[in-house]
Amino acid sequence: MATYIFGHKNPDTDSICSAIAFEHFKTEVGENVKAMRLGEVNKETNYALSYFDVQAPDFLEKVADETEVMLVDHNEFQQSVDNIEHAQILEVIDHHRIANFETSDPVYMRVEPVGCTATIIKDMYDEKNITIPKHIAGMLISAIVSDSLLFKSPTCTNRDIEAAKALAKIAEVDVDTYGLDMLKAGADVSDQPVSAWISGDAKEFMMHGSSVEIGQLNTVDPAEIYKSIDEIKEEIQIIIENKGLSLFLFVVTDILNNDSEVLAIGPAKDNVEAAFDVTLSSDDRAVLKGVVSRKKQVVPNLTRAFES
Ligand code: MG
Ligand code: MG
Ligand code: MG
Repeated sequence: MATYIFGHKNPDTDSICSAIAFEHFKTEVGENVKAMRLGEVNKETNYALSYFDVQAPDFLEKVADETEVMLVDHNEFQQSVDNIEHAQILEVIDHHRIANFETSDPVYMRVEPVGCTATIIKDMYDEKNITIPKHIAGMLISAIVSDSLLFKSPTCTNRDIEAAKALAKIAEVDVDTYGLDMLKAGADVSDQPVSAWISGDAKEFMMHGSSVEIGQLNTVDPAEIYKSIDEIKEEIQIIIENKGLSLFLFVVTDILNNDSEVLAIGPAKDNVEAAFDVTLSSDDRAVLKGVVSRKKQVVPNLTRAFES
């Protein structure tokens, strides 16, 4: 049976596109693998898939014991497939912190502090002198644009920029034009229910023994999103009760101005004030100037606040 390759739950463009690219890479080196996805493909990713005429991977809900898997774009078990604890993890290609991850057998891990998993995979092609076809270059560059918010996120490194430059040539796109079109396609959420805004790109974290969920939504107009604040709060309250969360932080990121307006709900919401040195408004919101990265800006600051 083919080894499954997948990114995290609530998959973003990196999780889908890096799984597709890594499937191609591994197939080129003679391994039997299959890209999968752990959730719905979002609109931004759909834009990339249809632009480069690539099929979305099949959905995978759960793995049987001992299933051979490779993880891309994540390692924390609570973000991975159901029953990951009993799978055989062969490889991890990632660019996140390592947490809640354990294997019984040796594992190949390639985790680098770059802006995108796709950047690491691009380097792996180059190291093995494997030609990157146009559609795979399209997948990789889409992931880099997405994770780096078109190179404006503080997570973006020179390696991501260099990789994107080279990939743009192969994919035959002008990265600024293509990238903004792709981000805007993802930021158009007007036809989606509020529940999708909140959970479409949500991740769970353990912070000093507390369960914290952080949902992120890209938009060109946060005020438009927060017109539905009552419904948003109701939805979040239900998630908090169902999962026993200490905090749900909803991060609405303005992709044109590179700020985020957050909504903090739950018993530990005071930690948001401490983490970002802000005061929550009477409806539990705050603007975080220059904050666009959950991984590099939100999670570390919030984790420190929970620890102190
Ligand atoms: Mg991701
Ligand atoms: Mg990523
Ligand atoms: Mg992301």
